[in-house]
Amino acid sequence: MKKIPGRCTEAVINLKKTKRASFEEVYFLVRIMTIFDYISLVEEKGNTTNDIRFKTFYKGHAVYIRPHYKVENINPKSQDWSIDFVLTIHRIINNKEIFIDSLGIEYDGHPSHFTPDRLLSDRKRDIQILIKEHVNLLRITKDIVTESFIEIEKAIFSFFDRKISIIDEVQSKTLSYINSLEDIPTLTTCQLCNGIGRLNFQDCPICHNMGSTPENQKIDLSEFEIFTCGKCGGITSNDCEFCAGEGKVTREIALSMT
Ligand SMILES: [Zn+2]
Ligand SMILES: [Zn+2]
Repeated sequence: MKKIPGRCTEAVINLKKTKRASFEEVYFLVRIMTIFDYISLVEEKGNTTNDIRFKTFYKGHAVYIRPHYKVENINPKSQDWSIDFVLTIHRIINNKEIFIDSLGIEYDGHPSHFTPDRLLSDRKRDIQILIKEHVNLLRITKDIVTESFIEIEKAIFSFFDRKISIIDEVQSKTLSYINSLEDIPTLTTCQLCNGIGRLNFQDCPICHNMGSTPENQKIDLSEFEIFTCGKCGGITSNDCEFCAGEGKVTREIALSMT
């Protein structure tokens, strides 16, 4: 077993005192800590509910181990729930830790965990924990720890690997989308409507109310010198305030008709 730094050991021993964790629970926590290459203690002042965290790394990601993780009980009269410990994984982007997901580990070492009533209430509790805290739970028994601890290690790392690969995919797809946006031509103010988007009481026929056109788009303004009056629809008999009964307006007048 790897060596755990003194400050971490001290914190674990305190946990046994202050949170009344059983020896097996504490031993199991220490074993989990040893599956990582490096471990350090993070102390948070002022946060009394989930106050002790151990920090480590996995494949370039920050990982926290948070023992006795408190979750508010669905029944306000009952005691808060406590998950034996929760592992959270974070991607480090620009020196910021971005939370990815969490895995809670419950050590069901004591035979009292296996009475029918307890099995039922634990399952109900697990559902509420997933709803409220989004913590996926892995329940471990004493036999699993003694006989196949390596499987627990595999399960944790497999969970992390899966989360990392999902985030990798999202990040690379997002990046390629952003890169594809750079292929969009530079836009320039529409020469016909001068960026207003409308003229002659209609959407601009060139930019279609966008107000801008791709810089390289060829525009022949000579096609847009005269417009059928957008107010009267070209009914020449009508005494129209825009075309004065002509039925047609110049571009200059059309531009005032938005
Ligand atoms: Zn336009
Ligand atoms: Zn008119």
